[in-house]
Amino acid sequence: EEKKSLNFIEQIIEDDLANGLSNDKLRFRFPPEPNGYLHIGHAASICLNFGLGLKYNAPVNLRFDDTNPAKEEQEYVDAIQQDVQWLGFQWDKVLYSSDYFQQLFDWAVELIKEGKAYVDDQTSEEMAKQKGTPTEVGTNSPFRDRSVEENLDLFMRMKNGEFDEGTHVLRAKIDMEHVNMHMRDPIMYRVLKKHHHRTGNDWCIYPMYDWTHGESDYLEQISHSICTLEFKSHRDLYDWYVDQVYDTSLLRPKQREFARRNLSYTVMSKRKLLQLVEEGVVNGWDDPRMPTISGLRRRGYTPSAIRTFSDTAGISKRDNVTDVALLEHCIKDDLNKTAPRVMAVLDPVKVVITNYPEDKEEFLDANYNDYAEGFGSRPVPFSREIYIEKEDFREQANKKFFRLKLDKEVRLKNAYIIKANSCVKDENGEVTEIHCTYDEDSLSGSGSEASKRKVKGTLHWVSVKHAEKAEVRVYDRLFTDEAPDGHKDKDFKEFINPDSLNVINAFVEPSLKDAKELDRFQFQRLGYFCVDKDTTESNLVFNRTVPLRDSWAK
Ligand code: ATP
Ligand code: MG
Ligand code: MG
Repeated sequence: EEKKSLNFIEQIIEDDLANGLSNDKLRFRFPPEPNGYLHIGHAASICLNFGLGLKYNAPVNLRFDDTNPAKEEQEYVDAIQQDVQWLGFQWDKVLYSSDYFQQLFDWAVELIKEGKAYVDDQTSEEMAKQKGTPTEVGTNSPFRDRSVEENLDLFMRMKNGEFDEGTHVLRAKIDMEHVNMHMRDPIMYRVLKKHHHRTGNDWCIYPMYDWTHGESDYLEQISHSICTLEFKSHRDLYDWYVDQVYDTSLLRPKQREFARRNLSYTVMSKRKLLQLVEEGVVNGWDDPRMPTISGLRRRGYTPSAIRTFSDTAGISKRDNVTDVALLEHCIKDDLNKTAPRVMAVLDPVKVVITNYPEDKEEFLDANYNDYAEGFGSRPVPFSREIYIEKEDFREQANKKFFRLKLDKEVRLKNAYIIKANSCVKDENGEVTEIHCTYDEDSLSGSGSEASKRKVKGTLHWVSVKHAEKAEVRVYDRLFTDEAPDGHKDKDFKEFINPDSLNVINAFVEPSLKDAKELDRFQFQRLGYFCVDKDTTESNLVFNRTVPLRDSWAK
C-alpha cells in the first residue's frame, strides 16, 4: 500500500503530539443534528473523524446535537445511527447535547453570578440593530447592566415558563465593540415552548449552538473538535465559552475547521433536501436520486465505495466542489471487482433461431465473471427464441458496426454464433422479429474448432420462454445544473431535471428471480444494477446504479 501524506488535520494532531499531548488523550466526535438524513457531505466528516479514531486508536463519540426541538425527531436519530454503522464505523458512545441541559443551565447561572451574562428583554430586531457591522462597533443593550439578582430572578422565570417566546434571552456579556461580531454579546438561551424528542416538556429554554457545542466537547473531553469552515469565525466564542468553565487539570478542546464537501449536480443542505421530500419531487429521503447515504445505499452504492470517495476527494482548507463523476467512478471501480455479471435486456426485440428445434432447451454453464476467480457460475437457459437489445441489430450498417446485421455473424455470450438472414417489420417499418440461424458446433467453451471461430461482436441475450420480467429504474441526475443552489436570482428547484427517472420493463435471466434487496449485479454491456426494496414476489425491481461508461477523467 502506498504511503499517504498527512492531511492538514492529521498534521495538527501530529504537532500536538510532538508538543506533549499524550496519545491516550485523543478523542473525537461526529456531531449531527437529528433534523434530517445524513448525506454524502456528512460522509466526509464521518470518514474524517472515525478515520482519525482508527488511525490513532482513539475513541469517537456519536453526539446528537439536539438543541433545536422544533426540527428534531427520533426517526432521524435512528436513521443516522444506521447510516454510520452501514458505512462501517463504530462509535465509542452515543451521546446527546440534551444530556447536558442541566449542566449547561448550572454553568449559565454561574456566569450570571460572575457578571458575565444578562437577561435582555428586547426583541430580536432591536438587538440586531445594536449589533453593528464588521466595520462599525455595536452599542450596548439598555439591559446590559442589570444587577446579578435581577438577572438570576429573570433567568429562573424564563426557565419556569413565565415568559413568551421571543420576549427574553440570556446573553453573554463579552464586548459589543469586538472585531469579531460573534463576540458581541451572543445569545446563550432563548425561550422555546416546544416538546423535545428526548427531554419532553422539561425545558422551555434551550441553549444556542455555540454555548452548547464547546461545553459538550469539554464535558466529553474531545481533544480535536473538527467542524466545517463556516464555524471558523465562531472559534473565538468557542474558546471564550470553554474558558469560562475550564479546569486546568482537564483537557481544553480545540476547534479546527475544514471545507464542506460540495458535490456537483446536487444540493446538500438538509433544509433543501427536506423540501424535495416534502414537496414530492423525490420519493423520500432514500430515493436513489438523493445524495443521502440512504439514497446512495438504495441506489446500489457500497460502503467501501463511499469511503474510497471520501479519501480520494480528501479534505481541504478552502471551499470547493467535487465532481460527481468521481463518486460514480468509485462505485464503478468497486462493482467492477465485486459484482457478478449477468444478462438482462432492457429494450428487447425477438430473435428466432430457425434451425434450432422448437421443443428444445439447453442450460448452458455461464461464469459470473470470466476475468476473475471465485465467482462461480450458473446455468443460463437457451432456446429457439431469445431477446436481444433493439439497438444491437441493423439491417445494414458499415464495417464499424460489430453487432448483428443481415448476412453477418455475431456470438451470443456464453452460447452460439448466429447469423441474421431476414427480419419482420411492422407497418411503421420497425423491426419486430429477426430470423437467424445458428452454428450448432460453435458453443462457447465446448473446445470445438467452431467454438474458437473469431467473430467480431458478442451480444447479451435472454431466452424468451425463460426470461423473468423486471422493472428497471434508470436514473439521471436530479438537477440539470452543475451548481443548482449557486444562482443568486434563481431557486435551486428551477434546475430539477424532469427526466431524472425512467422506468423500463425489461427481461432478465431467470437466475435473478431469487435476488434479494441490495444484491448488486453487472448487467453485461449495460451497467451496474441493484435490487430495490420495492421488489415483491411477483415484481422484481432493479435500480441502475451507474452505466458502464466512465466519465471521470483522472
Ligand atoms: P446542513 O446545512 O446540511 O443542515 P449541518 O452542518 O447543519 O448541515 P449537521 O448535522 O450539523 O449538519 O452536521 C454534522 C457534522 O457534519 C458537522 O460537524 C458538520 O460540520 C458536518 N457536515 C455537514 N455537512 C457537511 C458537508 N457538506 N461536508 C463536510 N462536513 C459536513
Ligand atoms: Mg443544519
Ligand atoms: Mg449543524
